[in-house]
Amino acid sequence: MTPGLLPVPGTARGVRACFTTRAGGASTGPYASLNLGSSVGDDPASVRANRAALAGALGFDPERAVAMRQVHGAEVLRVGPDDGAGSFTGSLAGVADADACVTTAPGVALLAMGADCPVIVAWRRDGAGAAAIHAGWRGLVAGVVEAGIAAMGVPRGEVHAVVGPHVGPCCYPVDHALRARMAGSFGPQVVRGDAVDLGECAAVALERAGVPAVQQGRVVGCTSCDAARFFSYRRDGQATGRQAAVVILGGGA
Ligand SMILES: [Zn+2]
Repeated sequence: MTPGLLPVPGTARGVRACFTTRAGGASTGPYASLNLGSSVGDDPASVRANRAALAGALGFDPERAVAMRQVHGAEVLRVGPDDGAGSFTGSLAGVADADACVTTAPGVALLAMGADCPVIVAWRRDGAGAAAIHAGWRGLVAGVVEAGIAAMGVPRGEVHAVVGPHVGPCCYPVDHALRARMAGSFGPQVVRGDAVDLGECAAVALERAGVPAVQQGRVVGCTSCDAARFFSYRRDGQATGRQAAVVILGGGA
């Protein structure tokens, strides 16, 4: 298996980041094939195989990899060197209820997963810290992006971030109340017709958190439109897999 990856170029020294696609894994049916989510109904053996293949491809130690129990909130998990032990390819249990995680521990890999929600990788300019953030509309409104970037503990302008694959405004029509709520939080430009542009919301949140636009990137495309590359809850419903944002601080290959 060769996991499908979208590398993030130009990170700081010692930091590696990428987004996964659905290609190159062991899962079958609606989870085909690189499903990394452990609570979506997929065979745990396949999830373990996919996570192990990802660790092998990126050269990180699965005992130092952390996946969260994502709850659409704004809690931030601070990850130490051994906090992931036994969980990533073992129990498959997320290490805590959180939607953002940060670390300054070399060798640690952080993951945030999504099937339409924006997932974000961030790193300190000096390479001494990293973050992974799951930023669906509830988390965005709750301030998960601002909380995650603030937890990196550096002055404004010292963090870079890239927003990964997410559902585009082409495929994210929402009711009037939610459009009004998102416009109220992030500005009228995030509403496109009857839809909301979650990537634009994330960009506004990042800028507010002190990541200027010139230090932001965004993966172009839409998870719902691109069935060959991405899982999508909007397109496929409950039974679908999860892709991930992955950031590794030092260590490994
Ligand atoms: Zn679309």
